[in-house]
Order: sequence, then C-alpha cells, then structure tokens
Amino acid sequence: MTTYTKPLPAISSLNRPYWEALKRHELKLQRCTECGKVWYPPAPFCPACWSDAVTWQRLSGRGRVNSWVVFHQAYFPSFQDDLPYNVAEVELEEGPRLLTNLVGVDLAEIRIGMPVEVVFEDVTPEITLAKFRPVEQHSR
Ligand SMILES: [Zn+2]
Repeated sequence: MTTYTKPLPAISSLNRPYWEALKRHELKLQRCTECGKVWYPPAPFCPACWSDAVTWQRLSGRGRVNSWVVFHQAYFPSFQDDLPYNVAEVELEEGPRLLTNLVGVDLAEIRIGMPVEVVFEDVTPEITLAKFRPVEQHSR
C-alpha cells in the first residue's frame, strides 16, 4: 500500500460513527427521530427542532451535484499530482450537503444537478473517504 500523504480527518466522539460506517462502506448520518431531519456535520442535537433524540441512519448514497470548483493549484503539496482536481458539494437525497470529490468523470462533463452516487475510497487502514461518481457509469 502506498503511503497516503493528504490531510486526514480528525475523528472525535461526535463524528466517530460516521467514519466507522464509511470504513464498512456504508454512508450514515444523524437523523432526528422527532422530526425526521437528517444533517451533517454531526451535532449533539437536531439543528431543526433541538431534540436530542438522535440516531445514526444508513443513507441511500444518492444525490446531486449542487456546486463544484476545479483546483488548478495545489494548496497542499500532496495534491500536486492530482491537478487539476475537483471539489464538489453534493446534496444527498436525504437533504444534507457533503463536500467531496467527484470521481470517474471528466472535469468538462460536471454539471449542476448531475445525479451521483457514493463510492468508498479506502485511503488508510483507518480512514475511508466518501466520494461520488455519476450514476450513469453504474450501468455500463
Ligand atoms: Zn428534529
């Protein structure tokens, strides 16, 4: 396994279930059992109704590209070989928006509203990242 040199997330007691689910290749976020809202990033209370009746729910992994940018400059040296690369905001079917990278797509083909689905990238033995690819690719 090649050494992963990019920045890694800081795991806390609050976000640990998110990262542990990704490691099992499942996308899970917190859901309020009072009002049904799903949100990200993790919080101890529902941001809609302040209930602490919070559960972790497995999501569909489907969403749409809400916005994206293409980086032509490496702000971390470890991203140099990826240039140019995209950073996208994906709005999940369940509502929350995740900052992520789109994979398996030409930069010129990225569109707002493009349907995408989660893919799991194991970057270290501890950390798996959620990335997204166009849904169309799935049926090839
Ligand atoms: Zn709520």
